[in-house]
Amino acid sequence: MAIKTIIEPFRIKAVEPIRMTTRAEREARIREAFYNVFLLHADDVLIDLLTDSGTGAMSSDQWAAVMRGDESYAGSPSFYRFEESVKRLFPFKHIIPTHQGRAAERILFNVTCGPGQIVPNNTHFDTTRANIEYRGATALDLPCAESHDIATPHPFKGNMDVAALERLLEGEGLEKVPLVMMTITNNSGGGQPVAMANVRAVSEICHRYGIPFYIDACRFAENAYFVKQREPGYADKSVVDIARELMSYADGCTMSAKKDGLANIGGFLATDDEELARQEKDLLILTEGYPTYGGLAGRDLEAIAVGLEEVVHEDYLQYRIVSTGYLGKHISREGVPIVQPPGGHAVYIDCSAFLPQLEPLQYPGIALAVELYVEAGIRGVEIGSVMFGQVEPESGEETPAEKELLRLAIPRRVYTQSHIDYVVEAILEVWKRREGIGGYRISYQAPFLRHFTARFEPLGARA
Ligand SMILES: *Cc1c(COP(=O)(O)O)cnc(C)c1O
Repeated sequence: MAIKTIIEPFRIKAVEPIRMTTRAEREARIREAFYNVFLLHADDVLIDLLTDSGTGAMSSDQWAAVMRGDESYAGSPSFYRFEESVKRLFPFKHIIPTHQGRAAERILFNVTCGPGQIVPNNTHFDTTRANIEYRGATALDLPCAESHDIATPHPFKGNMDVAALERLLEGEGLEKVPLVMMTITNNSGGGQPVAMANVRAVSEICHRYGIPFYIDACRFAENAYFVKQREPGYADKSVVDIARELMSYADGCTMSAKKDGLANIGGFLATDDEELARQEKDLLILTEGYPTYGGLAGRDLEAIAVGLEEVVHEDYLQYRIVSTGYLGKHISREGVPIVQPPGGHAVYIDCSAFLPQLEPLQYPGIALAVELYVEAGIRGVEIGSVMFGQVEPESGEETPAEKELLRLAIPRRVYTQSHIDYVVEAILEVWKRREGIGGYRISYQAPFLRHFTARFEPLGARA
């Protein structure tokens, strides 16, 4: 019989201590942080599930590559290694390095879109949306119908609503829609994968209307692994081949290497369009750097080159997807409501169902984030009305978001199974005392991206 236990496919060479705190300390720290986990000092956090962005552990090969980094201003060999590694998975003609994913987005939308235009996506990530809106264009989400139902699983809840896209393009055409984006996996939609069939269908429609099709590729490897697991016809294909097929339907992509690049910083923009690439490189020189480093050090380019080789290893991806699923499974089988099925990089708790006594504008996601920190030093992030609610500038009147979620994002190769068991136990402790948990009000907020700096006050005494 083959052994069934799935283990972390690495051993640990350097350790980073994490600091235990007492409940009384955490009560004090969260009060001083105005009940906003973004305002905590990270060394007061025991298990940090705020984000999977740039928080992964690098391998010994990546650290070795860092030493090889060549810091020549132009034409560094580190760039050519980076370019070759990127092109193996993303076979586009022009690869433009940037310091993060959002820099790639800014450059892409600067050269492609302007006021009055519409950019559809399955679901825009917040920086993508902000960069499009900054250009005076509209960022339109066209998620599939299944994505609205939190509790019912579906293998490809990240899909785009193809019929809605078709209706839009029929009505508007190229003048109004300069490009179509697709985010894999669909981060804001619960870290859910997109099916190859859906990518193919969207690509076909775009090309029928002569509209460029771009992929936001941040979690391309996790998405490719889900395709291998869940989509008929892909079980025997390698993740590399699946990723290459996925990219072959697109005209270009944006990428944050802080996700499936397994690096702590970096990103890139890729395109097949010669003229567009020229304009993008001009803009890159203005704000990021020369096209063979794009705001990165040579050593960062090396770390990404090796990271892209490691992220498509199937034992790594199996461990990655299984450990996220393990957290989701062990809390949901005790009744904790989550977005089903668990995503690739994160588990999303449905806070409206967890804390039904709270109205959306009593911020149940904040309430649960606070309790999880106080209970066990765990930091998650609210993805709900504080992050996505609309505030009317004149009246201050607030419209809540569609969902009140708490995201627990798992950094890559950082925590072990016993850390995750600890997280499970902590969530279940809070679940037991959920009826006594009260809501919050906002005592200070910035005019935009308020979730980063907002201050909160408990509505009653904290139990
Ligand atoms: C993180 C992310 C981005 C932006 O990348 P940064 O490196 O944080 O600038 C864009 N899209 C998605 C889906 C992301 O998850």
